[in-house]
Amino acid sequence: MRLVVIPGDGIGPETVSVAVKALEKAAQQSEAVLELVHEIAGLDSLAQHGISVRPELIKTIEAADGLMMGPMTTHQLNDEAKGRINPSMFFRRHFDLYANIRPARTFEGAPIRVKPFDLVVVRENSEGFYADRNMVSGGSEMLVTDDVVVSLRRITRACCERIARRAFELAMTRRKKVTIVHKANVLKIGDGMFVQTCEAVAREFPDVTVDSVIVDAMMALVVRQPERFDVVVTTNMFGDILSDLTAELAGSLGMAASINAADHFAMAQAAHGSAPDIAGQNIANPFSQIGSAAMLLSWYSQRTGKPEYLEVAQRLEAAMVKTIREGKVTRDMGGNLGTDAVGRAFLANL
Ligand code: NAD
Repeated sequence: MRLVVIPGDGIGPETVSVAVKALEKAAQQSEAVLELVHEIAGLDSLAQHGISVRPELIKTIEAADGLMMGPMTTHQLNDEAKGRINPSMFFRRHFDLYANIRPARTFEGAPIRVKPFDLVVVRENSEGFYADRNMVSGGSEMLVTDDVVVSLRRITRACCERIARRAFELAMTRRKKVTIVHKANVLKIGDGMFVQTCEAVAREFPDVTVDSVIVDAMMALVVRQPERFDVVVTTNMFGDILSDLTAELAGSLGMAASINAADHFAMAQAAHGSAPDIAGQNIANPFSQIGSAAMLLSWYSQRTGKPEYLEVAQRLEAAMVKTIREGKVTRDMGGNLGTDAVGRAFLANL
């Protein structure tokens, strides 16, 4: 498996370097062959090459099997004409990474505010209320007059159908329950289509129990009873917000692993941002990035039918569980270790 690695901005280099060591060591202990190609994008690339996503980088990634990327500081990457392209947005669009899979689960030994739970938010990632994803050309947010803005949301049956199918397939490997989260009481046509399409796909999976929850009620229910959810499928913006909440309920946003997947390519990128408030202080939690790397290997194993990559993913997961149980965690998880020290404890457990 050839994997391109990009450190990203803010805390990205700190957490990605731990994830790289984890991948290298776990792969050495197994039959899996992993080739890591180190690259840069975002602000680093802008400073060095005058463009945040180089055309050569795109070719390198196209020739690879996956991408592991740190978070990006997006507000400075907002003018494509000046080479200021947001790499996260660019790769999501370029590779049509339509399924953003964001698991959240509690860990033994970690401080939690709720009953133990284990759920996955399956977020549609290619349209919805994201101005950068809806149009072939131009954004879907417009300044009509100096005082009037129109922001458009695109919902298509095909995109609803493919994300629903991923959610139901995932549920079949878990506790066989899907919750559809929506706002069809107000967004009657768009979310109405999302709910109808999910229900139509549900008929192909008679073993899966289905329910639906309106997104505002979901915010209360997921705090009150997170253990009642298994797979949660939802549109882009709702999924983005809900998954930060579920990550924090599970202990910390610093645990928020995620992959952005298409059918033939996937990008591992933690769900959180570049955390400029803690960057460079050696206190960022590296488990979000290690967890994302494990998800990418597991996705690759499923796609290619090669069990050795799933085995590496499982080793990473097991070492993470053990390290957290021992209390060797960063301060966002109630511990007192730095990023490097957590990395060392993790590697020892691996
Ligand atoms: P953020 O997610 O970076 O941080 C929110 C809070 O969570 C902060 O207090 C931060 O310290 C904490 N946090 C995040 N990751 C952590 C970790 N691994 N360990 C411990 N604590 C952690 O959100 P923000 O500050 O609003 O965004 C910063 C920048 O990141 C912005 O430019 C934003 O646009 C960008 N962003 C990028 C992505 C991405 O690249 N995929 C995603 C979200 C935000």
